Amino acid sequence: MNAPKTMKRVLMGPGPSDVDPGVLEALSRPTIGHLDPAFLEILNEIRELLQYTFLTQNEMTLAVSGTGSAGMETCVVNLIERGDPMLVCINGVFGKRMTDVAERCGAEVSTIEIDWGKAFAPEQIAQALHKQPAKVVGIVHAETSTGVCQPLEEISRIVHDHGALLLVDAVTSLGGMKVDVDGWKIDACYSGTQKCLSCPPGLAPVTFSEAAMDVIENRKTRVQSWYLDMSMIRRYWGSERLYHHTAPINMNYALLESLRIIKEEGLESRWGRHVANHKILKAGLSAMGIRYLPEPGYELPMLNAVSIPDGVDDAAVRKQLLNEFNIEIGGGLGAFKGKAWRIGLMGSACTLSNVMLALAAIEKSLSDQGVKLKPGAGIAAATKQACG
Ligand SMILES: *Cc1c(COP(=O)(O)O)cnc(C)c1O
Repeated sequence: MNAPKTMKRVLMGPGPSDVDPGVLEALSRPTIGHLDPAFLEILNEIRELLQYTFLTQNEMTLAVSGTGSAGMETCVVNLIERGDPMLVCINGVFGKRMTDVAERCGAEVSTIEIDWGKAFAPEQIAQALHKQPAKVVGIVHAETSTGVCQPLEEISRIVHDHGALLLVDAVTSLGGMKVDVDGWKIDACYSGTQKCLSCPPGLAPVTFSEAAMDVIENRKTRVQSWYLDMSMIRRYWGSERLYHHTAPINMNYALLESLRIIKEEGLESRWGRHVANHKILKAGLSAMGIRYLPEPGYELPMLNAVSIPDGVDDAAVRKQLLNEFNIEIGGGLGAFKGKAWRIGLMGSACTLSNVMLALAAIEKSLSDQGVKLKPGAGIAAATKQACG
């Protein structure tokens, strides 16, 4: 099959999410040089808008070339020197991935692992640090594999009381819910463009606090990764404009456009839209007897992880949603493989019409699977929720 020229999917999985036509248009603008003054202006505006989106004044805020995982690797590899102790909190796939990355970067990794679907309590982090001090504590804000939201404020206080730096994965949360880098005193934070920023995959926004930059500046050894070395990348993003690697020009056009869209909507309204549509979807799914997997009170608005009803063929439903309705939803990952659906409401895809479409499509598909449902129950409950 050719690259889809006209095929229009509704992307309601764990990412990528629907991309605004204005962002796609920006991608197709003429490529210019990475040292062209016009392009350097674009980088400056991206930095400013990323500072706005991350709620930070951090000077060291920029978009790394690569997807969200490159952001993860950038944060870890720059803060860690061989043998440094790092604590990683695991309650899903991405905490596991961070552990793998940290080990490869040479960290002495200790982990705390809790059941999938649960969030960490601050005391658990305190206990772990009491047993084994760390230079860096890594934790996932929005665990896309389980749909769990991890509160960070109290944990940040504990991490800093123990003299460690806080490293946060905000790949799925940034642009869809509050990520308060300065307010929560996060030292290093990374995201990805294709979740709630609603841009194609390819760039990883990152930000480092002054304390984190201090650590980077005072390293005894060179950063193990040449490509992701912030001390070199900052010389291109800073006033020197020293060539390091060619910036992905058109992806930066796209990111700028998507960040402008976010600024125009305003962060508070954008977060509010995600919560409102999540509640409507949840009302509809619950009325069809579909249960959420995260412990109550910790559900993410942009990633709805639900349990697949008994006797339902996971793959058949997702195939039908895709072929009959053009809707993509995600299956389960890791421990949740075959047990969960992950319904994304990210960025531009987080709309009332998508929620209603998905509910109607899921009802049809479950009925085809032989599940006995009261016709229209999902839509009725969703409508009631939407009308207040
Ligand atoms: C998607 C995701 C990543 C990885 O991002 P890629 O763009 O796939 O490299 C990391 N962490 C979380 C929480 C994610 O949702």
